[in-house]
Amino acid sequence: MRTVPHFINGVRVEESGDLNVFNPATGEVTARVPIPSPAFINNVVDVATKAADEWGQSTLSRRTNILFSLRQLLVEHTDELAALITSEHGKTLADAKGEIARGLENVEYACGLIEHLKGGFSDQVADGVDVHSTREPVGVVVAVTPFNFPIMVPLWMSANAIASGNVVILKPSERDPSVSIRLAELFEEAGLPHGVFNVLQGNATTVQALVEHPGVDAVSFVGSTPVARAVHESASRHHKRVQALGGAKNHMVVLPDADLDVAADAAINAGYGSAGERCMAISVVVTVGDVADPLIKKITERLDRLKVGPGDDPASDFGPLITKEHLDRVVSYVTSAPDDDITVVRDGTTLESREGFFVGPSLLDGVRPGTKAYDDEIFGPVLGVARVATFNDAIELVNRNPYGNGVAIFTRDGNAARLFSRHVHVGMIGVNVPIPVPISAYSFGGWKDSIFGDAHIYGPEGFAFYTRAKVVTTRWPQPPESQIDLGFPTTR
Ligand code: NAD
Repeated sequence: MRTVPHFINGVRVEESGDLNVFNPATGEVTARVPIPSPAFINNVVDVATKAADEWGQSTLSRRTNILFSLRQLLVEHTDELAALITSEHGKTLADAKGEIARGLENVEYACGLIEHLKGGFSDQVADGVDVHSTREPVGVVVAVTPFNFPIMVPLWMSANAIASGNVVILKPSERDPSVSIRLAELFEEAGLPHGVFNVLQGNATTVQALVEHPGVDAVSFVGSTPVARAVHESASRHHKRVQALGGAKNHMVVLPDADLDVAADAAINAGYGSAGERCMAISVVVTVGDVADPLIKKITERLDRLKVGPGDDPASDFGPLITKEHLDRVVSYVTSAPDDDITVVRDGTTLESREGFFVGPSLLDGVRPGTKAYDDEIFGPVLGVARVATFNDAIELVNRNPYGNGVAIFTRDGNAARLFSRHVHVGMIGVNVPIPVPISAYSFGGWKDSIFGDAHIYGPEGFAFYTRAKVVTTRWPQPPESQIDLGFPTTR
């Protein structure tokens, strides 16, 4: 049985495997992944700390060149990386390539690091006194990532962290860890010095050890809300800089004036794409006024045409779920829905049984607060429809939800869209766009229980998170000059 290695100080490090990695399309165990010992973790942090001293002093032009090379390598290796992602995650190859493209954007943004790391200068703030500011790396950054985007989320973090002069220890998801090793090798091939990007495999215990380790300076976490909350609390207790992005329950509000064909297409794409295993997936369609019945009709027409199958079959619209346990959990939301007076319009759990962790698309009508199918993040191909009477009811529903990652509105009314955008308590909003993941020049982040910590991820907030401000106040005395003055210095 193959074991997935760590990647430490520029080389693959093999250990015996402890946890199973599956091919979700067959249900077979394809590899084993190790859980490192505390001594091994200490050694990795030592390696990173040594590398941080040198990398933090590297020139900006050198970093830029390496990131440009990485960009090119990621483009050249897209097919190979996508196949690796599909084999462990299960998503379609097209979806895996989409993920790589969105990760690549972050590398491209980081290539502009000379601009992003520019400081300020104020001339003659007092007589003969100038002030300038710089941003310096924080040091050793731990990046903890979820299973659903095994290369994009590591790139969200590592591109900007490394561009800012930090060293990264990536702890990828134990469910689909292999692509992170290829990413590490491509970083090396691009010219990154040994030890600047390390991959440490493991599980929750590994994360906890890293978060508490005195040699770690900052923690970037993306995953589920309970873990994000716990990681944020623990890292804060250990005086780390921390950003922890959590789960979601994304609403798509459809107003009576919307183009219902456009809205139905969007609901299908964003609700069932990647089997619903996206943090920006639409999970609740909020129908306003009398929109529900005609929209449900259009959604079901489209849903009945979806093909569920292995991710490497070009005919598949979406692939299997990540594990058998997750499959059982997703199925339970559909089978228990009638207990909450929810109508199961389409039941995907009846999909012809076969090897692998497949489930078909389900559509639930009548989800509302207080029902399990509404309250929980299902993270599967289960789309709920909520019915509300008015535009204000829709805003209230969105705002009452504890999550605040993404939301979308479908309408032809610009003013309604504007009011909606201004009044919803959500970090990322789409107007006739169902998955509004911001481009890399804007930062990504939700509100409320979808994030713990102040900084959103990547883009300008990413550079701010991975750097510390330094301000230098300079005065060159002009001799002959001597002055004794014990008063507090002012510019007046
Ligand atoms: P998860 O929380 O189970 O795991 C995420 C990472 O945390 C993994 O590397 C895992 O090893 C580690 N981990 C798990 N339990 C831990 C614990 N108790 N203590 C410390 N570390 C622990 O999440 P997942 O199932 O891999 O990913 C799916 C979740 O991630 C969904 O909730 C999804 O919404 C969320 N997500 C959020 C975003 C976002 O940007 N907000 C993006 C992608 C995924």
